[in-house]
Amino acid sequence: MRLSRYFLPVLKETPSEAQIVSHRYMLRAGMIKQQAAGIYSWLPLGFRVLARIEEIVHQEQVRAGHIPMLMPTIQPADLWQESGRYDAYGPEMLRIRDRHDRDMLYGPTNEEMITDIFRAHVESYKQLPMTLYHIQWKFRDEVRPRFGVMRGREFLMKDGYNFDVDKDAALHAYNRHMVSYLRTYERMGLKAIPMRADSGPIGGDDTHEFLVLASTGESEVFYDSAVTDLTLGNRAVDYADRAAVKAVCDEFTAPYARTDETHDEALFNALPEARRKVGRGIEVGQIFYFGTKYSEPMGAVVVNDQGQRVPVHMGSHGIGVSRLLGAIIEASHDDKGIIWPEGVTPFHCGIVNLKQGDGAADAACEGLYQALTAKGLAPLYDDRDERAGAKFATMDLIGLPWRITVGPRGLKNGVVELTSRRTGESEEMSPEAAVAKVAEIYTPHMAAN
Ligand code: ATP
Ligand code: MG
Repeated sequence: MRLSRYFLPVLKETPSEAQIVSHRYMLRAGMIKQQAAGIYSWLPLGFRVLARIEEIVHQEQVRAGHIPMLMPTIQPADLWQESGRYDAYGPEMLRIRDRHDRDMLYGPTNEEMITDIFRAHVESYKQLPMTLYHIQWKFRDEVRPRFGVMRGREFLMKDGYNFDVDKDAALHAYNRHMVSYLRTYERMGLKAIPMRADSGPIGGDDTHEFLVLASTGESEVFYDSAVTDLTLGNRAVDYADRAAVKAVCDEFTAPYARTDETHDEALFNALPEARRKVGRGIEVGQIFYFGTKYSEPMGAVVVNDQGQRVPVHMGSHGIGVSRLLGAIIEASHDDKGIIWPEGVTPFHCGIVNLKQGDGAADAACEGLYQALTAKGLAPLYDDRDERAGAKFATMDLIGLPWRITVGPRGLKNGVVELTSRRTGESEEMSPEAAVAKVAEIYTPHMAAN
């Protein structure tokens, strides 16, 4: 992308309505525009990151054996009357009446609808296990929408639903989700800690929330510092192997880690004092096992291997796709702007032309642009007729992890400069070497796809 042709409405002033850094930077970097309280347009730069996050979520769900689909945002009320949640849900549900006086709602979640789909088409245990998921906009009429996309009213969520013949199989689905979520967040450059949580209005016994540690998080968290040392990395986990998947879950849930809702002072105090940490966290996902809570009232039954009709065991599993942008920025920024992790960056590399209109500089930038593109990378070339300082400030604000700076002086010696956004360190090298180095940096991220 050439910046002169792009739509990047960067703001010079710090918007006064934004209380936290991620909200400020998303507005300043021209990623989002508020349309109403908690409702945003995704401008091109924000949309690119959102799409990148969605792609990683899809890849990891499919890797775990889960099946993508798409359900509508608007749902009929009668499904929710069947489960008993139409009255229970409260004012967070946006209720709508259509021209025929039918009660509808903008879906805050999809347990009822997916159960309705399942009961219409699945009859035998032989079709199980089955996990269906979608990435779709949700609406919750939050009392206090705030912090930009972190607590919106309209927000994008990945929600998945497992259907299993018995509790053991459903707990394997739960564990599969836990492992796939660990991988998902790590690929986004995040450390998200699974913490035992409270099930709230979804209901059920087993539930974990995934929290990103950040001082601006809305949840109070208590954890053993040992949990922050765990990483999944690129170890191969066979999702069909129940014991192997459970072993990963056991490893990640062994250290004490809970939110204030389930915090147990006595257990926490049993830890060595130096390892006891109290902090704040951003909830970026949650998994639930709730058994037959929806399948029983809604009649989602299968015939098991004994020929008996049994209600299926279910769980639901959510990732806050749009909230993740805020969480990633909270976890990765400095006073100049965002620092995108390589896994989610909107463009892989910036190209800054220090002297637009200089024949050699223009040609070198074009060459870099073509070479990076040929490697399957997406460069953002600042080809505007602007001062170098303004170009650097924009690049720093929008947070591309790598920048190649091209100027007539360096080119006389055959070099350009490659700069890391994270460390600020620069290195001079030939344009070819810079392209090769950037391509090498992204190789593991491309391979993970
Ligand atoms: P919270 O406690 O933050 O209100 P929740 O527990 O009600 O969230 P879930 O039903 O678990 O939310 O939804 C799954 C995920 O969707 C959450 O983990 C969170 O990341 C995201 N999410 C929930 N509410 C919002 C919101 N209002 N804006 C943005 N993302 C949200
Ligand atoms: Mg939750």
